[in-house]
Amino acid sequence: MSTYLSQPIISTIKEKCKICYTCVRECPARAIGISEGQAQIIQEKCIHCGNCIKVCSREAKTILNEIDKLDTILRSAKKKIAIIAPSFPAEFTYAPYTRFIGALFELGFDHVCEVAFGADVVAGAYKELLLKDDKKSWIATTCPAVVSYIEKYQVELIPHLAPIVSPMIAMAKIVKLFYDEHSSVVFIGPCIAKKHEARISNNDIDLSVTFKEIKEYFIKNNIDWRFSKDREFDPPHSNTGGLFAISGGLLQTAHLKEDLLTGDIVRADGRINFVQALRSFKKEELRPKLLETLSCEGCIMGPGFAQKLPQYKKRNEMSRYLQSRMKTFDELVWTQNIIKTQGIDLGATFTEDNQRVVKPSELLIKNTLFKLGKKNSDDELNCGACGYSTCKEHAVAIILGVAENEMCLPYTIERLKTTISDLEYSYDELKKVKQILNHREKLASMGQLAAGIAHEVNNPLGVVLMYAHILLEQHGQDPDLAHDLEMIVSQSNRCKKIVSGLLNFSRQNKVLYEKVNIYDLTNHCADSIGVNDHIKIKIITLYCDSCAEVDKDQISQVLINLINNAIDALDDQKGEITITIDGNESTLIIKVKDNGPGIPEKIKPRIFDPFFTTKQIGKGTGLGLPVCYGIVKMHRGNVTVHSNTNSAEGETGTEVIIELPRYEQVIKRREEYVQD
Ligand code: SF4
Ligand code: SF4
Repeated sequence: MSTYLSQPIISTIKEKCKICYTCVRECPARAIGISEGQAQIIQEKCIHCGNCIKVCSREAKTILNEIDKLDTILRSAKKKIAIIAPSFPAEFTYAPYTRFIGALFELGFDHVCEVAFGADVVAGAYKELLLKDDKKSWIATTCPAVVSYIEKYQVELIPHLAPIVSPMIAMAKIVKLFYDEHSSVVFIGPCIAKKHEARISNNDIDLSVTFKEIKEYFIKNNIDWRFSKDREFDPPHSNTGGLFAISGGLLQTAHLKEDLLTGDIVRADGRINFVQALRSFKKEELRPKLLETLSCEGCIMGPGFAQKLPQYKKRNEMSRYLQSRMKTFDELVWTQNIIKTQGIDLGATFTEDNQRVVKPSELLIKNTLFKLGKKNSDDELNCGACGYSTCKEHAVAIILGVAENEMCLPYTIERLKTTISDLEYSYDELKKVKQILNHREKLASMGQLAAGIAHEVNNPLGVVLMYAHILLEQHGQDPDLAHDLEMIVSQSNRCKKIVSGLLNFSRQNKVLYEKVNIYDLTNHCADSIGVNDHIKIKIITLYCDSCAEVDKDQISQVLINLINNAIDALDDQKGEITITIDGNESTLIIKVKDNGPGIPEKIKPRIFDPFFTTKQIGKGTGLGLPVCYGIVKMHRGNVTVHSNTNSAEGETGTEVIIELPRYEQVIKRREEYVQD
């Protein structure tokens, strides 16, 4: 096959397609699949009816441009004959039709003839066929899209196709007989399927172009057809064959009438009607002697028109033209010309090209529907938004790989809702992480500041303490002086403690790991703190192994600080402090919980800030929690605080949760990970 013949006649312009599924819905052959989010034509299934072109508001369907081929034909030395489809008066409406013919001569055609004469000849052949065999049911169609549909999807009906060529092919043979058998014949009409018919026509037709294409070609050649020289069609001239362009025209030209009483002759035109009529014909619900059918509602509604006029306006234009032609009709000449055509072979053959697919199993369809969220028949809305008439049809198309789940609107809406809620969740999570990061950043810069101050204060403080001790040794006998010096020593020691706390908070101290039983250590710390009788301390261990490799002194400090905080939170009221030791193989968890009033929401973000305290002056340094935070971080652990101040939401109180890596190796691994 030449490259030209293998080129698709209709295709989708990807950039223009907005996947509205209109073309999927309107395609009678189900020849449009959605792949990679685009409506693509499955070429072997396409019958070239052009419905997709008519319905696409985005003009995303394009027809193969064959203007280059027309150029080549018109430049050749052969005789060039244009044959014009009967529907042309519905397109060339703004000037006498003779100007259109003149413009074609201007392009370089040697003859311009009307296909309507071919229609007269074909109508006669149909009449003869019916007379010859009046027992058989025939499908009469001049529409190549209907022929393709039968060859691909209703193959059982092929024997019922009237074996008569279309008026286009008949006319091509006639002009070759009348003028030159070696001439090039170009069909100009409203039909895209004729392009396919021309391709498979055994060289009867060299090229088929649409009215739209020829108008563009006039513009390309600077021809305004409305002002071309008036020319008449070359003979042979037609009788009523022009009626073929209108729905029912074949019957009228052949002097056959649709008979509603006997149902012997039936007409079915248009995308839905022709498919339904053929289905009924196959099921023998409909068995007339003759079924005349077209894929469009008459060729005047073909997809190759440039002008988008309403159907009845087009019919009106046709009637006016045909009436005017009848005035000059010469029956004698016409009959002589008809006689001349008698030797022409008008026989047509049809080839099966079965494109039907085996329907998937019910189970597979059910599973696919289930994935679309259609768990029972009530969920099958059959809304048609996907381009398929029923949810089942859509499911079958998905199984066959020509449709996607996302085409189902309710399914997509459901997915969108889930995505939106996922996004909302992620957004909230991100917000929380951002808050945590901001907080950590703040603590880190505070830590730097604290470390700087602590280092600067530590040395002079050491000097003060040393000299205070020396002076105390030298003048300890003087009670007044000794009292003052002891005051200096005790306050300096207090300052030293604060400095050490700051160094802990800023993670500047060394961690000396040793294996420690945290349960025992907790008991020891709790015992070392004096607690009033009305406060109960419960220590529970939930994990059999309470040991961890930690810095014993530092973790003691954490425990003491947390227990002291819990006691302070109970503020001398009756209450309970529960310390739980829990964990797993790699992590040890210490939870210190009190049932005090809880931490108010507005101060929660500040509880790890050094020197922030809600206690009375002199009762707390505001370093308890910051020190815990620093020590736990030095152990590569985590601190979290949960607190509830609203008794309506459950027991009030605060729980501080410390997570510590259980072994030094784990800590090292975490350190390496952090460094990486
Ligand atoms: S009608 Fe078809 S080709 Fe046109 S935009 Fe819609 S899906 Fe795309
Ligand atoms: S031309 Fe007709 S058969 Fe082909 S894809 Fe378009 S609508 Fe379907």
